[in-house]
Amino acid sequence: MNPDTHSTPEAVPAPDPADSGVVEKEISLCWNCGGAEFETLFQARDFDTALDGFPVRRCRQCELCYTGEVSEAVLAASYSRAYYGSEKAKFVSLIETLVKMGHRRQAKKILGLYHGRNSDSDTDESVLSVMDIGCGRALLLQEFSKLGTACLGIERDEFRGTAPQGVDVHIGALGDEGLSGRCFDIIIIWHVLEHITDLGCLLKELPAHLNPGGLLVISVPNFSSWQSRFFRQHWFHLDIPRHVTHFEKDWLQKKLTSLGMEVVSQNTFTASQNVFGFIQSSLNRIFPRKPNRLYKLLTRGDGRKNWLALTGWTLLAIPLAPLAVLETLLGESSHRGATLSIYARYRGQDGRAESSDN
Ligand SMILES: [Zn+2]
Repeated sequence: MNPDTHSTPEAVPAPDPADSGVVEKEISLCWNCGGAEFETLFQARDFDTALDGFPVRRCRQCELCYTGEVSEAVLAASYSRAYYGSEKAKFVSLIETLVKMGHRRQAKKILGLYHGRNSDSDTDESVLSVMDIGCGRALLLQEFSKLGTACLGIERDEFRGTAPQGVDVHIGALGDEGLSGRCFDIIIIWHVLEHITDLGCLLKELPAHLNPGGLLVISVPNFSSWQSRFFRQHWFHLDIPRHVTHFEKDWLQKKLTSLGMEVVSQNTFTASQNVFGFIQSSLNRIFPRKPNRLYKLLTRGDGRKNWLALTGWTLLAIPLAPLAVLETLLGESSHRGATLSIYARYRGQDGRAESSDN
């Protein structure tokens, strides 16, 4: 994850929840357009620290939904070591193995989509370049590297020295001087965009780093999903305050079009994330004082020390599983699944439309 690639606005006083639904002036600005007028949708809290009072807002100017009352200090504190996991593995080993298999499949899918729209091209993988913004431990790039592409990851300092063999990782931001003028055939921003605190700036920079015909791959939690609408502040994928923006499908599509991108494929289905999101969100709603307990037991090694708690929460989760699978399947068929993945082809400067929302 690469949450502080860009600057954050100053911390500001908390709004009165009683003002909910009323146009409110000033306070922290929209991460996309800098607009100061917003509607407060609901209040949420940090599932990790139990810090309360983060309003989820909709910008009156560009309609982006975002987290308010977030300062650099609050964000830095919210990224605990446990959030990133150890250098070796964030997840327990079985899940980690499944994640790695998923990366292999994902790399092949992305390359297939790239070539699918370039069927008359004689480009092969060995001359393709891939950039992953917020690459984490660069496990996805490692799979691309095995398939022959040139790879560059961008990450924050916490990941220095963790890159696998064959993968170059730049510690810093896309706007750094060393990356100026570098273009790629594929740019991936996988569950990272929602962390970026100067979203408008990053989105404007993207076209300058894509070759014409290049593929932009974005995946984010789907704020226009059924899960988000139903669970609201209890939704597992809300992840406040680390997620500073909350993307709706129509908003992201419109934004990409304004940048000269044509959406060539999209889905709202990531089986593991959607199914687990439903289960954990349900548990969060039933047990609001124990947010994300099952997730923490599964991912942070707590479960090994506390197997009784892990067994108990797993037993609570099992009856929810059939409902979670059903919701995931129906959600995707209605384009309202919990995660949104968009694959967009860059048409070059000529394909760029004027944007009315910055
Ligand atoms: Zn805005």
